[in-house]
Amino acid sequence: MGRSGSGSAAIPAEVDVAVIGAGFSGLYLLHKLRELGFSVAAFDEASDVGGTWYWNRYPGARCDIPTTDYAYSFDPELEKDWTWSEKYATQPEILAYLQHVADRYDLRRDIWFGTRIAAAVWDEASRRWRLRTSEDDEVSCRYYVMASGCLSLPKKPDIEGVGRYRGEVYLTGMWPHERVDFSGKRVAVVGTGSSGIQCIPEIAREAAQLTVFQRTANFSAPAHNGAPSPSRLAQLAADRDGYREAARWSRGGMPAELTDVSGVIAPDDVRRQRFEDAWQAGELFAILGVFSDQGINPVANEVVAEMIREKIRASVTDPETADSLCPKDHPFGTKRPCLDTGYFETFNLPHVRLVDLHRMPIATITETGIDAAGESIEFDAIVFATGFDAMTGPLVSVDISGADGVTLKDKWAQGPTTYLGLMTTGFPNLFMITGPQSPSVLSNMAVSIEQHVDWVADCLLRMRADNLDRIEPTPLAEAGWVRHSQDCADITLHPRADSWYMGANVPGKPRVFLPYIGGVDAYRRACQEVAENGLMGLRLDGPAGPRCNDGVIRRVQPDVAMVLDLVASLGLPAMESMDAADARAFSEATAATMPPGPAVGEITDGTLPGPAADLAYRLYRPASAGPHPLIAYFHGGGWVLGSQHADEPFCRDLCVRTGAVIVSVNYRHAPEDRFPAAVDDAFAAVQWIAVNAASLGCDPGQLAVAGWSAGGNLAAVTCQLARDAGGPVITSQLLLTPVTDGDFGRPSYIENGEGFILTAALMRWFWDHYADEAERAHPKAAPLRGTLTGLPPAVVVSAEFDPLRDEGDAYAEALAAAGVPVRQIRARGHTHTSLTMVDAVISGAPVRAEMAEALSSFLQAPARA
Ligand SMILES: Cc1cc2nc3c(=O)[nH]c(=O)nc-3n(C[C@H](O)[C@H](O)[C@H](O)COP(=O)(O)OP(=O)(O)OC[C@H]3O[C@@H](n4cnc5c(N)ncnc54)[C@H](O)[C@@H]3O)c2cc1C
Repeated sequence: MGRSGSGSAAIPAEVDVAVIGAGFSGLYLLHKLRELGFSVAAFDEASDVGGTWYWNRYPGARCDIPTTDYAYSFDPELEKDWTWSEKYATQPEILAYLQHVADRYDLRRDIWFGTRIAAAVWDEASRRWRLRTSEDDEVSCRYYVMASGCLSLPKKPDIEGVGRYRGEVYLTGMWPHERVDFSGKRVAVVGTGSSGIQCIPEIAREAAQLTVFQRTANFSAPAHNGAPSPSRLAQLAADRDGYREAARWSRGGMPAELTDVSGVIAPDDVRRQRFEDAWQAGELFAILGVFSDQGINPVANEVVAEMIREKIRASVTDPETADSLCPKDHPFGTKRPCLDTGYFETFNLPHVRLVDLHRMPIATITETGIDAAGESIEFDAIVFATGFDAMTGPLVSVDISGADGVTLKDKWAQGPTTYLGLMTTGFPNLFMITGPQSPSVLSNMAVSIEQHVDWVADCLLRMRADNLDRIEPTPLAEAGWVRHSQDCADITLHPRADSWYMGANVPGKPRVFLPYIGGVDAYRRACQEVAENGLMGLRLDGPAGPRCNDGVIRRVQPDVAMVLDLVASLGLPAMESMDAADARAFSEATAATMPPGPAVGEITDGTLPGPAADLAYRLYRPASAGPHPLIAYFHGGGWVLGSQHADEPFCRDLCVRTGAVIVSVNYRHAPEDRFPAAVDDAFAAVQWIAVNAASLGCDPGQLAVAGWSAGGNLAAVTCQLARDAGGPVITSQLLLTPVTDGDFGRPSYIENGEGFILTAALMRWFWDHYADEAERAHPKAAPLRGTLTGLPPAVVVSAEFDPLRDEGDAYAEALAAAGVPVRQIRARGHTHTSLTMVDAVISGAPVRAEMAEALSSFLQAPARA
C-alpha cells in the first residue's frame, strides 16, 4: 500500500476529490482545492512530487520555455521566494522548485506516493467514483481529476530483439535516480526528439564512442542558455501582474508580439532579418512566429525550414551527416521543435557517429549491440529516447469505466472526444488537466495548468454552492468542441506530419490531432464563456433536479472568426452609410489587401459587345493544354460594387481547380443603371461567350455560368433566360451564396443579420440601389420566383452565417423539386464573404474544392437537350 508523504497514513476511504498525479498540475490542484475546503487525496506512482521532473532525470534534461515563464503564478509570494539560476533551468532545479512548493504549502501530507491508480468505476447510485490502486486499495470520491500528465507514459522501444540486449539500458523518461557514468563507454542513443537532442551533447562529453540512431531528423534552434533574460526579469519587476495576465491571454502562454509579416510576401532581406532575430532570441515561440503564415502556408513554412537547414549545414562539417540531420519530411513546427545546446556541432566530434535509419535501418538488437544494415555495432549502454504515448496514453492506461459501463479506452478507440479537453461525455464528475483538445503541449504548460485548475476549482465551488453533485458534458457540446478543435488543426500544416501530436508515434493509435491549436487566449475565452453562460453544454444535477444550458460554444470556423474579430476591431464605418462611390473605393481598397490567389496559365483582358455598351472582361486560362471547359463568371457586390477583376483570387482558384477558362465579365452597376441593366448585360455576355467559345480556345459543349452573391443572382437568372430563349446551351451553373428572392423575413436574415460583414442593413441598401420594390418579385430579380424546370444542373453553395443562407438553400431545394440535378453544399462555419477569401481563409479551401469537383462533374456530363 502507498503511504502519504507525511509518513504512515493509510489511503482514506472517502474524499471529495481524488487527484491523480503530483506534478505541476496535481500540486496546484491539491493546494487550491484544499484551500477551498474540499477534502482531497492525491496519488502518484512516483516516490515524490515532481511528475515530469521526477521521472526525466537524463543528462541535459531542461525546460524549453524560459523559467521566468515556466513557473506558477498563483502566489506572488512564491514568486518572490524563488530565483531561477538560468534562462532554461535544469531538471534538478525544476524538481527542487516543485519540492519547495510541496514544502511551502505542506502538500505531501495528502499525497500517497508509490501508488498507482489502476481502475476507476462510476457508481451512479451514489454519484461517486470508486478508484482502485494497483494494490487493490479503494477510495471513493465525488470528483475524480486526472492530473496525470500529457507526457508521463514513456513509449517503450518496439525494436526487434530489444529484450535480448545484456548491456545497460536506459529510457530517458524513466531515468535512474543515481548518476549514470558513461565515461569510457560505447553508448548508443536511439531517438532524436527533444529528449535525444538534449542528452546527446551531454553523453558525448563522457562516452568513449557515441552512436546516434536517427529515424526522423528534427528541427532545432540554439537555446542560447545563460542567465534569465534581463528584459523579461525587468518586465516582471516592473509589473508582475500585468506580465502574468498578458501571458494568460497570449497565444502560447508567454507574452509575445504577434507579427503580421507574411513569409510569402515579405522581401528577402526582411525575411532574413526576422529569422536571424528569432534565431538569436533562442526561444521556441520566436522561431515558431517568424512569419504570421508559417503555420498554415507551406511556402512561408519552407522559407523558415530552409533557413534552419542552412544553419545545420553551416554547423556540421561532414556534408553527408549534415544532409541526414536536415529535416525534410515534415513542415517546420508540425513536430515539436527543440532548443539545444551544441546538438548539431556534437556530430563534428571524432567519436560521435550518426546512423540515419532511412539509409541504414536497424535489423535487430542483439545481446551485445545493434545490427544495422549488415553492420554489427557493439555497445556498453543503449539509451532509448523514444518519446511518449502522449496525451491520451496516461488517461486510457487507467481502466476507467463510465456511466454506461463503457471504458474510456473504448470510447476513445477512434480518437479522444472531449469538451474543452476538460471533461468527456459518459464520464460524469471526471476532469482532466490539460486533456486532449486543450492547448496543453502546444503552450507554456504552467499557464495552461493553472487555467485548468482554476476553471475546475470554480466549477466545483459553484456546484457546492448550488447543491449539485453531478456534471457531464452533453453530446451536442462535446461534438461541437471536437469539431472546432479539428477545424483549428485542419487549417494548419500539422495534419501533414507523422508526429506524436497526431498519435503517429504509437502503432495502432488513431491519427487525430490531439491538442487544441486555436491558442491559449482563444481557448481561455471559450472556457470563460462556457462558465458565464450557465456552464453551457454541461448537464448539471442535484437534489433539486437536472439543469442544462445546452449548446455549442464555437460554431464559426476559426479563421473566419479571426477575420470577424479583425474587422470588428477596426471600427470601420458601415458601408450602407456611404454613397456608392465611397463604397466602391472602400471595397477596392479592401480587395487590394488580399492574397492574389494561385497562379494560372494566362490572364488576358478584353471587351465584348453589350446591349448598351461594350463590356469589359478578364479571362483566366489554365496552364494545361486546351480546349478547356468555359465558365462565364459574374462578380459579387450587390449589383453596386465590383468589376471584372474584383473577384480575381476566387476566379484564379476556380480556374485552377476546374481546369476551365473563366471569363469574368463586368456589367452595368446600380444606382447609375438599375434593374434590369445588369441582367441584360449578363445574358448578352453569355450569348457572346457561347458563340465565341471555340475562338477563346474552349469546348463549346462545356459552358457553365457562375456567380457569387449578386453575381450568383445574375447567373441563376441567365440560366432561366437561356432556357426560355432556346439557347445558348448551358451545361451547368455554380451559384455561390446567391441572392434568389430578397425575402428579409427568412430566419437567416434574423440570425445572421448583424456581425457577419454582410448585414441585413447592407443588403437592403443594395436592393434599394438596384431595383424598385415593385420590380423585386420579378423572376429576373428573384429567380426563386421563376419557373425552375428545365434548368441546367446546379451547384448551390450556402454559408451558415450568411443572411442569404436560406435564399440559397431555398433555391437549391426548389431546383431539386423541379427535377434539376443539384449539388447543395452547405459551408459550415462560413459567412457570405469568407469562401472567396482565397489563401486568407484557409478553411474555405475544402469547400471550394468540393464546389469545383461538383461543377466539373456536371460540365463533363453530356449536355442535356
Ligand atoms: C523532458 C520534458 C521537458 C519538458 N519541458 C517543458 C517545458 O519547457 N515547458 C512546458 O510547458 N512543458 C514542458 N514539458 C511538459 C511537462 O510535462 C509539463 O510542463 C508539466 O510538467 C506537466 O505537469 P503535470 O503535473 O500535468 O504532469 P506530469 O508532470 O507528467 O505529472 C503527472 C504525474 O502523474 C503520475 N501518474 C500518471 N498516471 C498515474 C496513475 N494512473 N496513477 C498514479 N500516478 C499517475 C505520474 O507518475 C506523474 O508523476 C516537458 C516534458 C518533458 C517530458
